[in-house]
Amino acid sequence: MKNQMDTVSIITAFCRKAISLLAIVAFVFSCNPPSPFQRLLETHGRQYDLVILNGQVLDGQDMISRLADILIRDDSIIFVGKVDTSAIVVEQVIDAAGQHVTPGFIDTHAHGDPLETPGFENFLAMGVTTICLGQDGSSPEYENLRPWMDQVDSVGPGVNIALFAGHGTLRQLSGVGYKPVPAPEEMAKMEALLSDALDAGCFGMTTGLEYVPGTYAGDEELAALAKVVGERGGLAMSHVRNEDDDAVEASIRELLRQGQHCNVQVSHIKVVYGKGEERAEEILALLDSARNSSNYAVTADIYPYTASYTGIGIVFPQWAKPPQDYEQVKQERREELLAYLRQKIISRNGPEATLFGTEPYAGKTLAQVAAEQGRAFEEILLDIGPGGASGAYFVMDEALQARLLEDPHVMVCSDGSPTMHHPRGYGSFAKIIEQYVQEERRFSLAEAVRKMASLPAEALGLKDRGLIREGYRADLLVFDPGKVKARATFSEPRRLAEGMDWVVVNGKVAFRDGKLVGRPGKVLRK
Ligand SMILES: [Zn+2]
Repeated sequence: MKNQMDTVSIITAFCRKAISLLAIVAFVFSCNPPSPFQRLLETHGRQYDLVILNGQVLDGQDMISRLADILIRDDSIIFVGKVDTSAIVVEQVIDAAGQHVTPGFIDTHAHGDPLETPGFENFLAMGVTTICLGQDGSSPEYENLRPWMDQVDSVGPGVNIALFAGHGTLRQLSGVGYKPVPAPEEMAKMEALLSDALDAGCFGMTTGLEYVPGTYAGDEELAALAKVVGERGGLAMSHVRNEDDDAVEASIRELLRQGQHCNVQVSHIKVVYGKGEERAEEILALLDSARNSSNYAVTADIYPYTASYTGIGIVFPQWAKPPQDYEQVKQERREELLAYLRQKIISRNGPEATLFGTEPYAGKTLAQVAAEQGRAFEEILLDIGPGGASGAYFVMDEALQARLLEDPHVMVCSDGSPTMHHPRGYGSFAKIIEQYVQEERRFSLAEAVRKMASLPAEALGLKDRGLIREGYRADLLVFDPGKVKARATFSEPRRLAEGMDWVVVNGKVAFRDGKLVGRPGKVLRK
């Protein structure tokens, strides 16, 4: 009897507990807390400019995509999540079902004049929404860059522009020119101009030490300028002094010395006529060791082609370039110069590996021009002179360059422009997706997006771009990665890339179905 009583009381107690538990659950559910979207409506209202629905969002950081909608007002991402379109009023709807949505790509090394070709369709067509100008030591030649920035804003570029102050330009503006050592007052002027450029919104400084006048600069000058960059949290990017296999490490070390004072980035990293993955590992190890022993960031960018493109001056000796008078050099040191050019071209894979990009020889190799004229190739070069042409040079090794590209600290650049006779200005970012992600599967699409969007944003110190996040600027792409194609070739270098269905810059559609439809870009001020 007693046992029966106990059992009844145990069951009763259990039932009471169960009932009170159910009551709590019911209470919690009846409270029905507002969803993130409902909270959004309360804080931001119902009126929006653009919504991108049903896309697989790769946000630039996470390695897996997620199905989400993105709500945009003005130039900003207001919400990422599930949007109930019946609850809002929205100007434009993009249905991204079956497609990826990513942050717009950032090209850390680009060329072009936004006052001449403001549309920059070549960049938009491959998903680039921000380009960095002022490269290789050369920026607009103004002591005060603000009016230039304002003028670009009033013209309205297709992409955003992040400007760098060029070291060579600073030299020219300060009266240093081709002198090896600036006078103290000239040095002070360079520092003051750089400081003012950074105040105006430049993201740092570039050097072009393989070019004049940058090549005349020494350690002391470069360190003093790097300090100015470092004090403002800027970035020093460098086309290093010599990219040849036997000189590239010393050249990178020279930049790493500036890396004691500021963040540094090797521009369009390459090993000219070096070969193989192991050679790439050596270069990456050098960068790793510098990174591990510095308070500053050490990064690099790269374009995915094995031909470079630059002025023909790259094959001429220092003593034939400004401030030397070339006509005089030609007369007085003709045989010596011919021998130098011959040797240099042979070491750079021969005259077949130099493809002219400028008239009158555009599209022909140096070997073809020499054959047509029945003359030695070095004589053709002698006639052209160091400032007389530009060309593509097939001097890189695919295995080596691809290994550099895979490194997690290496981002993507084009080093291209709308007018250059090299496919990189029209193809680079599309080629990364088409070849390295889709065909060769060297890395995932998510990693490619990180390399092309969030990594460059971080290197530049762009705190509101490069990721898909609430509060970030709405630079966005909608595409099917399987349809992205780089169509530009060395014979047809100005064919737009295909496959970017929608390109949104600052919340506005800039490029759609292969065509420029708006120019919502602006000059970004750091
Ligand atoms: Zn360069």
